[in-house]
Amino acid sequence: AISQRNVNNPTRRKPPPAKRRETPPSSDQETSDQQSSADEAEDEGEEDDEDINKILEKLPKGVDPLSAKQILNDIVVRGDEVHWDDIAGLEGAKKALKEAVVYPFLRPDLFSGLREPARGMLLFGPPGTGKTMLARAVATESKSTFFSVSASSLTSKWHGESEKLVRALFGLAKALAPSIIFVDEIDSLLSARSSGSEHEASRRSKTEFLVQWSDLQRAAAGREQTSREKKEGDASRVLVLAATNMPWDIDEAARRRFVRRQYIPLPEHHVREQQIRKLIGHQHHELSDADIQVLVHVTEGFSGSDITALAKDAAMGPLRNLGEALLHTPMDQIRAIIFPDFEASLYSIRPSVSPDGLKKYEDWAREFGERG
Ligand code: ADP
Repeated sequence: AISQRNVNNPTRRKPPPAKRRETPPSSDQETSDQQSSADEAEDEGEEDDEDINKILEKLPKGVDPLSAKQILNDIVVRGDEVHWDDIAGLEGAKKALKEAVVYPFLRPDLFSGLREPARGMLLFGPPGTGKTMLARAVATESKSTFFSVSASSLTSKWHGESEKLVRALFGLAKALAPSIIFVDEIDSLLSARSSGSEHEASRRSKTEFLVQWSDLQRAAAGREQTSREKKEGDASRVLVLAATNMPWDIDEAARRRFVRRQYIPLPEHHVREQQIRKLIGHQHHELSDADIQVLVHVTEGFSGSDITALAKDAAMGPLRNLGEALLHTPMDQIRAIIFPDFEASLYSIRPSVSPDGLKKYEDWAREFGERG
């Protein structure tokens, strides 16, 4: 039987394609959608195909099945689970996300009326600070279907396709609710600059995105759903979670739609310590507490992703020293990771955000964001 679990079960799905299909879809005039769907169905396993067809049956009218299939390939499977504990620090953001998304999704009965959750939340901050990890953890912890889309996957150069893709995304999210629609780099979808003819496709997907999102917000505002709408899925359990490294690029109207804007800052002292200890925890190392304190100190200004890169590079130190001998050295004769490995790596691994860059985030957060 079809169920959300089937969609999310990694054993039942092929991995999503690395890149979107690059051949133009046949237009409605040339070939019917049914024919195109049938052609594409040949690529799928029979059971997968059955599952997908059952999902497609539940879709609201006006959702193009071909676009829906394309969106289904963007669903992140459960195999990629991230849990709260995997994410160092960001306690405030975790708390806000639990309250705004996880608890309402698990206990919708408690969160109605005045407690109705927001339909959208923006995570902003420097790159590599854990925004994507947080979104994945939210999906895991709220047992939701997770649609991970990038702005470019919603933009098609073929006339009319962009709108169809966006409609399919929201249609599927309702049909498979509870759902999280995670849009990475939302700035490029909702940017004030997406005008002009070469940006026609992105302008169209932006407009459709805002229209579809308003519909969700209306549903959340307590409007009674018609029986047809109910059949099409639970719009009240669909949330748009978006991430950006460039919050200032989002136009004002779109920014105001995100009632919640959560700043995801660079990790503080104690968070860097927690992350460094965790990273080297399972490794053979000889770093003293004092060494770790020095590392915590010199990684001021590093993002979580910079720290991960540093530790990975330092962990290569013992192997690099071996040269070709690495091919036949037994595991127990590989030396421990030592402080000088980190010192050497610090020459090449530098923070990705400059102090000036950081100030821009801090200023934007002060003006438009919530901290935590
Ligand atoms: P963002 O979406 O903010 O650009 P990601 O969530 O994709 O950043 O993080 C990139 C990588 O950096 C992660 O896969 C992880 O290895 C590391 N990382 C970033 N922030 C954290 C964190 N708070 N705790 C643990 N690892 C982190």
